[in-house]
Amino acid sequence: MRYQSTRGNSPQQSFLEILLGGLAPDGGLYLPTHYPQVTKAQLDSWRGMPYADLAYEILSLYCDDIPEADLRLLLRKSYTELVYCNGRSDDNAKDITPLHWLGEEDGTRIGLLSLSNGPTLAFKDMAMQLLGHLFEYTLKKKGQQLNILGATSGDTGSAAEYAMRGKEGVKVFMLSPRGKMSAFQSAQMYSLQDPNIFNLAVAGVFDDCQDIVKAVSNDRAFKAKNQIGTVNSINWGRVVAQVIYYFQGYLLATKSSSEKVSFTVPSGNFGNVCAGHIVRMMGLPIEHLIVATNENDVLHEFFNTGVYRARKPTETLHTSSPSMDISKASNFERFVFDFMGQDGKVTAAMFRQVEEAGGFDISKDAVFKGLGKYGFRSGRSSHKNRLETIRDIDQRYGVMIDTHTADGVKVAREHLQAGVPMIVLETALPIKFEETIEVALGRPAECPPAFKDIKSKPQRVDNIDANVEQVKDFITTHLS
Ligand SMILES: *Cc1c(COP(=O)(O)O)cnc(C)c1O
Repeated sequence: MRYQSTRGNSPQQSFLEILLGGLAPDGGLYLPTHYPQVTKAQLDSWRGMPYADLAYEILSLYCDDIPEADLRLLLRKSYTELVYCNGRSDDNAKDITPLHWLGEEDGTRIGLLSLSNGPTLAFKDMAMQLLGHLFEYTLKKKGQQLNILGATSGDTGSAAEYAMRGKEGVKVFMLSPRGKMSAFQSAQMYSLQDPNIFNLAVAGVFDDCQDIVKAVSNDRAFKAKNQIGTVNSINWGRVVAQVIYYFQGYLLATKSSSEKVSFTVPSGNFGNVCAGHIVRMMGLPIEHLIVATNENDVLHEFFNTGVYRARKPTETLHTSSPSMDISKASNFERFVFDFMGQDGKVTAAMFRQVEEAGGFDISKDAVFKGLGKYGFRSGRSSHKNRLETIRDIDQRYGVMIDTHTADGVKVAREHLQAGVPMIVLETALPIKFEETIEVALGRPAECPPAFKDIKSKPQRVDNIDANVEQVKDFITTHLS
C-alpha cells in the first residue's frame, strides 16, 4: 500500500515511512492511494474473532512493511483485556470495545460502543496505545530516538503519555495550561512517574501551549538536531487504528453482513469520524455517519450549508464538552480530498483559501449536492441539551454518560431510522468531566476502582513560562 498527499504534490510513501511524521512535505495529509474493499464473506469470517486478530485483518490491508508475525505481536500487546479493563466493570470486556444496547426508541435500537475503557478513559487510547507499540518497534528497527513535543488541554496529552510511558527510544514533553484542566485530568497526567515522560505546566492558556509547539516545530534546525516529533490527530496511524472499532461495532450489532447500521460520532477535529468515512468507503454497510458537534459547530455548519468557515480563537467557545472545542477540523481535509474526486490540486487550493480567507463555500457547487452518497448527516448540541441528555439517559436506562457522548446521543436521536440500529460512539467516561455530571445529576460521577486515589498520588510536573526559549532549553537539558 502506498500513501499519497491530499495536496497531490508529495512523493508516495509506505506505511512505516509516514508513521513517525506529521504533514506531507506539501502541507497535505496522507491517505492510501486506494481503499481496500471488504466483502460480505470476509466480514462474516471476522465474526467472533478476538479484537487483536480482527485488527490484524484490517491493518494488514493498509500496512505491508511490517512482517506478519511482528504486526500480530504488536496488536496482541496493544489490545488486551488487561489494558482495557480500566472502565466500568464489564461482562463483555473481552470485546475491547463492547457494545451496550440502551433500548429501543421509535422502532430503532440505540447502543453505545464503549471506546473509553483504556488507561485514560477516553477513546484516544484506542489509537494511541497501538501507536506507542508501533513507534517503539520502528524506532528500534531504524536505530533512532524520537522526542515527542505536544500541547494538550486534556485527553490527547494523557492518552499520548500513557501510550509512550516506558517505551524505548521515546521521550514525551507535554505542555499543558497550568490550572486550566480538571483536577482529574491533571492528576492523571502529573501522577505519571516514568522517567521518559515530562509534564510542563505552562503559565498561560491552551493556545499559548500550542503556539510554543508550533514555534519549536518551525525551527527546522532545532527540530532535526533534537529529533522532535508530534502525535497529533492527523497522524495516519491514529486514523487507521480507529477504523478497527467501527468494524467491531458493526459485527457486534449485526447477525448477518447484509444488515445496515448507522454511527453517530461526537466530533471535533473530524479524526474519529474520518475513520468512519474510510470504513464506509471500504464497503462496510453503513447507512448514515452522523457528525455530532457541540456549540463549536464548524462541521455541522458545513454539512448543513456547504460553507466551511474556520473560527477565530476568540470565536471558539469553552464548553462542557471541551475535547470538541475546535476552531477548525484538522482531519477534514481527508474527506474533502475524497469528495473533490481525489484531486490534489483542487484540495490544495481549497485549503490555501482556508489559510488565507478562513474558509470556502461550495454551497452552489454541484459537488455539494453529490455529498449525499457519502452518507453524512450532522447535528449540534448545547450545554442545555447535554445536561438534559445525561439526565434522561440516567433516568430512562440507568446509564451514566459523559458530556461528549451526550452530544452524540442528542444528535443521534434526531436521525433515527426505523429498522437501522444506531450506534453512538462513547468517547469518554463521565468521571473525566465530573464537574458537569454533578451539575446534571446532583450526584458524583462513578469512579472506576483503579482511579479512586488518583488525586492524592504524588505529582511530577515542571512549571514553565509561556516562553519558547525556556521550553527549548528544558528539552535539550533533558535529552541525554
Ligand atoms: C478528542 C475527543 C473527541 C473528538 O474527536 P475528534 O477525533 O477530534 O473528532 C470527542 N470526545 C472526546 C472525549 C475526545 O477526547
